[in-house]
Amino acid sequence: METVDLYLHNAEQVVTCASGAPRRGPTMAEAAVIENGAVAVSAGRIVAVGTTDDLQGRFAPRRTIDCRGRSVCPGFVDAHTHTVFGGDRAAEFELRIKGASYLEIMAAGGGIVSTVRYTRAASMSELESAACKRLDEMLALGTTTVEIKTGYGLSVSDELKMLQVIERLDQNHPCDIVPTFLGAHAVPPEFDGDSEAYTRCVIDKILPEVADWYKTSRFAERGVSMYIDVFCEDHAFDLNQSRRVLEAGIESGFRAKMHVDQFNDFGGVATALELDAASVDHLDVTGPEAIASLAQSDTIAVLLPAVNFNLGLTNYADARTMMDSGAVVALATDLNPGSAPCPSMPAVMAIACRYQRFTPAEALHASTINGACAIGQGDETGSIEAGKRADILILSEGDYRHIPYFFGSNPVHTVIKNGQVLDP
Ligand SMILES: [Zn+2]
Repeated sequence: METVDLYLHNAEQVVTCASGAPRRGPTMAEAAVIENGAVAVSAGRIVAVGTTDDLQGRFAPRRTIDCRGRSVCPGFVDAHTHTVFGGDRAAEFELRIKGASYLEIMAAGGGIVSTVRYTRAASMSELESAACKRLDEMLALGTTTVEIKTGYGLSVSDELKMLQVIERLDQNHPCDIVPTFLGAHAVPPEFDGDSEAYTRCVIDKILPEVADWYKTSRFAERGVSMYIDVFCEDHAFDLNQSRRVLEAGIESGFRAKMHVDQFNDFGGVATALELDAASVDHLDVTGPEAIASLAQSDTIAVLLPAVNFNLGLTNYADARTMMDSGAVVALATDLNPGSAPCPSMPAVMAIACRYQRFTPAEALHASTINGACAIGQGDETGSIEAGKRADILILSEGDYRHIPYFFGSNPVHTVIKNGQVLDP
């Protein structure tokens, strides 16, 4: 009998989300459910998954968890976050409720520039401990792998400071982290609205330092890819500037991601596809033609409905058309202090099911295997399959559909990260 570290059995359902590739088309809607399921784990990896009857007697486990009355699914992968930032924007939240316009909030010192100010003023340890608290909460809500972007430093030293914080979090927190350089997030105040001059600064000054940093980082050492991202939008970067930033990043060995079509459609999807981007994110105003071309590609549509919800908007991305036409769709929180102060993948899934007509199975695949593929982690996590990292959730209910159905609560009973049971 093979000795294993951990054995889960008697689960009402084990939803594997297993797939050799991201799920798309008909496979997106098919929940791979094993009833009365079991999972064996050793040395942080999944060893076997099957029915309790099949696995019974095959293993000598050091620890056994009886999952009767509960279900089991993969840990969530949050493929788009801005988890590292200084300060908060609670005052701005209240101003907006009272009807203040974007410009009034800017004039009162709010908006993204205020987060840049707080982030620049904060020390590395202040940024790390604030982000660590957020990651603790995300992990308790079932997120086991997190992409984190820079983009509140916007100078060589402040962007490097953010990257070092991201690296420390990867080292010190149980969550696995994937880094993204988002130097082209906003035009910093000292550039006085001159997006062209700042674009050149990102390409010529900041990016080379970031590329050097990556080479000796723990991410490169562990084979974790680095991404380059840009915010292609009014008051941020136009299509030409976005393309130049991404091309320079690709030349430095990074893969492209792009914030596109949040408020305005500049044709960003076509540019992203030309650059073989790993993902295009937001897509709230993306039209049918761009959706059709997305469906023909391997670029993943990362949808962020917590933003629309938080801003009180109803123009959710057309996820139904995207999924029906065969595009690969993922969900993420976009956790940030302004447009999405939300650490919860279950909340995102709840919104997606109600406003974008995801089925529970589609929402789960979008939050696990497809999210993992959007950040180059599809071979490592995002599904319960032999050989993958043992990132597993035991849910309080026996039916996985409770994740989006019973909204506002935490559906996760126990988180298992890299095979470690994080006891509640
Ligand atoms: Zn974002």
